[in-house]
Amino acid sequence: MYIVMITPEIAPAAKVGGLADVVVGLSRQLIEMGHAVDVIVPMYKGMRYDQIEDLHEVYGELWVPHFNEWRAEKVFEGKVAGVKTYFVTGGNYTERDNIYGYDDDLFRFVYFSRAALEFMFKTEKRPEIIHCHDWGTALVPAMYYDLYGGLGWNDARAVFTIHNTESQGLCWYADKLLGMVGMNAKNYHQADKMRDDAKHNCINLMRGGIVYSNFVTTVSPTFASEIRGPESGRGLHNCLNVYSAKVGGVINGIDYEVWNPATDKKIAHNYSAETFVEKYKNKYGLREWLHLADAWKPIVSVVTRLTHQKGLDMIKHAIYSTLEKGGQFVLLGESPDPKVNADFWRIKNELENCPDAHLWLGYHEDLAHLIYAGSDIFLIPSLYEPCGLTQMIALRYGTVPVVRETGGLADTIFDVDHSGRGLANGNGYTFKDANAAGLDSALGRAIGCWYDYPDTFNKIAENGMRFDYSWKNPAHDYQNIYNFIKAK
Ligand code: ADP
Repeated sequence: MYIVMITPEIAPAAKVGGLADVVVGLSRQLIEMGHAVDVIVPMYKGMRYDQIEDLHEVYGELWVPHFNEWRAEKVFEGKVAGVKTYFVTGGNYTERDNIYGYDDDLFRFVYFSRAALEFMFKTEKRPEIIHCHDWGTALVPAMYYDLYGGLGWNDARAVFTIHNTESQGLCWYADKLLGMVGMNAKNYHQADKMRDDAKHNCINLMRGGIVYSNFVTTVSPTFASEIRGPESGRGLHNCLNVYSAKVGGVINGIDYEVWNPATDKKIAHNYSAETFVEKYKNKYGLREWLHLADAWKPIVSVVTRLTHQKGLDMIKHAIYSTLEKGGQFVLLGESPDPKVNADFWRIKNELENCPDAHLWLGYHEDLAHLIYAGSDIFLIPSLYEPCGLTQMIALRYGTVPVVRETGGLADTIFDVDHSGRGLANGNGYTFKDANAAGLDSALGRAIGCWYDYPDTFNKIAENGMRFDYSWKNPAHDYQNIYNFIKAK
């Protein structure tokens, strides 16, 4: 099968969040399964060009409509993590240091969506599947059917993946936005098309992605059902209910080459489930790095963006709660919000002389690897979590997850006491209530087990290492979806 991904991000060249990892992880696995996959992304000025191999121009004058004129763009080809990727210039829209965060983001990504389709049309790329991601490329299915169908290009099927419902691409100047790329807003600003369900003066690009695609996926089965309610759906829930027959959840995977304790070069002592005792050497390494006391205590860790979604109050509570329960606490994280950073800096300073806690405020890839390998318990108290990758990484490194039962966390972590899977097939501890008491109920059980039943604790950790959360299964699910819509 020939699949083209049109996406605002691809890891590691242009990455903001998990979306970038999904695009590359899924593409690589599909290629391994024998499919042909191309990725199309904007050619941002501020990309990690060192992560692109063999970048060269392949198309010189791609004319793209822009209001009353046509602009000439260029297309470059290169490999990102082994995946053939096309980079489309966008003039002043791509000459930016960051991927998002500009006042004209809507224009930037709608223009890119049109440019990507125009490139495929002109170069006669005729994929069976066009797969687009989040609000930035949500207009692709509508554009494809309405602008290119009449030109004889109508045999592709479109998949739209929702990675998060936080940003949906709301726009109150639809005439201008859609008019820019030659689309008549009147055709779309309608209740059954792209009109936002709450703000009727706006169009909602994600709503367009849902209505016009052949299949809508989101990044875990639980999140797929959660977004059909108002809290997680954030205004898209009614639309998702209307189209429920073509909505499904596919859990993300993690890259099993990057995240492999048996070969990871970022940790000093490699290990597997068979050589599990070796893991503890990394615990000493972690303590050394973070100046923690060498004591007979479990290390509870958190690696996260410090944002509201991640349950900031519960994270703060967990620091003190862990110390009270006789554990050591490690946090690696940073926030885009200076107030949140200041709050965590205050706690860090307060704990300056504490031998059992260390907060590392910033982004540090190597330290993250050592934390996964060197700690005993990994905490994720998210308020909501479309999929979540850190719980899968923790499992892979034999670190027992303690998570709130939401979204992808609920689909991947099974409580050894309550899930009905028992010790044989459980892999962590979970809690429901998003508050201190809820968190303590699970964290207390994990720390208690570490102290009182070390063999049981090790069994849980080793169970976790045997779960397969690679891209293998999810890529098969996507293949089934592609086949299903192709046959219709
Ligand atoms: P989200 O995409 O919502 O941030 P995920 O769990 O899907 O959360 O993915 C987070 C990824 O980012 C993981 O690979 C995690 O290790 C990494 N990460 C998050 N914060 C940091 C940090 N401060 N330093 C290093 N890696 C981090």
